[in-house]
Amino acid sequence: MDDGDGPAVPGGALVTPTGDALVLFGATGDLAAKKLFPALFELERHGILDVPVVGVARSSRDDGALREYAAASVRKADPGADGATLDRLLARLSLVSGDYQDPSTFDALRGALGTARAPVHYLAIPPSLFGRAVTGLQAAGLADNARVVMEKPFGRDLASARELNETVHSVFPETSVFRIDHYLGKESVENLLVCRFANTLLEPVWSRQHVAGVQITMSESFGVEGRGAFYDGVGAVRDVVQNHLLQVLALAAMEPPVGADADALRNEKVKVLSAVVPPGPEDIVRGQYAGYLDEAGVAAGSTVETYAALRLSIDSWRWAGVPFLIRAGKALSTTALELVVELRSPPTLLFAGADAHVPSGNLLRFRLGTGDRLGVTIQAKRPGATLQTRPVELEVDFEPVAEERHEPYERLLADALAGDPRRFARQDTLEQAWRVVEPALRDDRPPEQYARGSDGPQGAQRLAPGGWHAPLGRR
Ligand code: NDP
Repeated sequence: MDDGDGPAVPGGALVTPTGDALVLFGATGDLAAKKLFPALFELERHGILDVPVVGVARSSRDDGALREYAAASVRKADPGADGATLDRLLARLSLVSGDYQDPSTFDALRGALGTARAPVHYLAIPPSLFGRAVTGLQAAGLADNARVVMEKPFGRDLASARELNETVHSVFPETSVFRIDHYLGKESVENLLVCRFANTLLEPVWSRQHVAGVQITMSESFGVEGRGAFYDGVGAVRDVVQNHLLQVLALAAMEPPVGADADALRNEKVKVLSAVVPPGPEDIVRGQYAGYLDEAGVAAGSTVETYAALRLSIDSWRWAGVPFLIRAGKALSTTALELVVELRSPPTLLFAGADAHVPSGNLLRFRLGTGDRLGVTIQAKRPGATLQTRPVELEVDFEPVAEERHEPYERLLADALAGDPRRFARQDTLEQAWRVVEPALRDDRPPEQYARGSDGPQGAQRLAPGGWHAPLGRR
């Protein structure tokens, strides 16, 4: 096996070769239609895509059928898609059909790749086939000098993630493995990193000395939307908590990276996740929305959670004693992705007297979903004779000040082709994240039912004695 690494550069980073072909395993699938072809179209539009794209699928189709599928996917995402750009994209596409158990499928792929020497293999296929695909690539000599991009979920728990890592590492070195967590490609999530480390304003208050608690909420106002069979095999903890929410927690809680390279950033993430104490039973609440059992594809009597809330603590000098509350759920009252950092309340001194009260602490609210914003709640004087306070919201809307935003899959595909691992999950981070959620995966108490359109199960209130901060959602 050629380890596929480029030459080492000072600082230990590795220069990986630019991909000279993109192989799309699962080109006829749902993800390819919804995200990958529209993202490839955008890369073509921006003049970034300059390699052939070879689709691989089980069903027997030809190049023309794949081009039709890709064109329909692009037009669905962007009805006004420019025809000439689309034609250029379609001209890059070809298809190899065959079973992954059959070595001739990979031989045909080798033929389709022609003179390509550094292909990027994107596995948008059922995770049960990941192992088979990488060993098939190796047997056909298609892993040398190549890179593999792997969709989520990467494993079902810590043990299966380790096992899959072993299989993948028997073919590709870690530097050639690009694990997708599309949250890492979101501009709004990356903005959290920038806001933290490009503004010295935040750092002095960003610790247990000033922070009373941190809450991360991912709330969806819709249910499983026809994907009941898929969701029922996964649940909220595996679907979004282990990956997306713990990545946001890592960005919120990590120390400043010591350098600008990808590993400096990923080293800090793994450090902070290693310090997270796994939740005890009293720190876990699982819920299921009323009506979930009637969704198509959901097993009778399923106890899969559509809502999960965890109270975590981080055993570090910066964060000891600060509760990190994270929750995610479907069929809730609003759609939102928010990080709220609550500062401690001030002492009462100035406000002592007959109408004494302690103003609540300032909130820093990072709204990371669509239409991302940063809000700060400050206490100001309530007009009148007494020194009463009232909360006032300051908010920055990033939308008008941002130039053209790129969709996460567009950025991630470009990064994978360029060999930049910054926005991908490294093995150690991923395994730490599985370690943190293991107790929630093993929790066999029945989920607590909650009404559609509500704020989730009542039981989640006990995790947040001071109350959850209601997400503000989309505007
Ligand atoms: P699909 O079920 O739509 O299938 C994807 C591809 O896999 C198709 O090209 C299909 O080929 C092929 N395939 C399916 N079963 C087999 C099999 N037994 N043998 C060989 N090929 C097979 O999956 P998705 O596109 O929904 O998901 C792909 C990956 O992306 C998964 O890892 C998923 O977890 C991940 N993902 C998906 C998301 C989504 O919204 N769909 C969101 C986030 C991640 P053919 O069409 O020829 O049968």
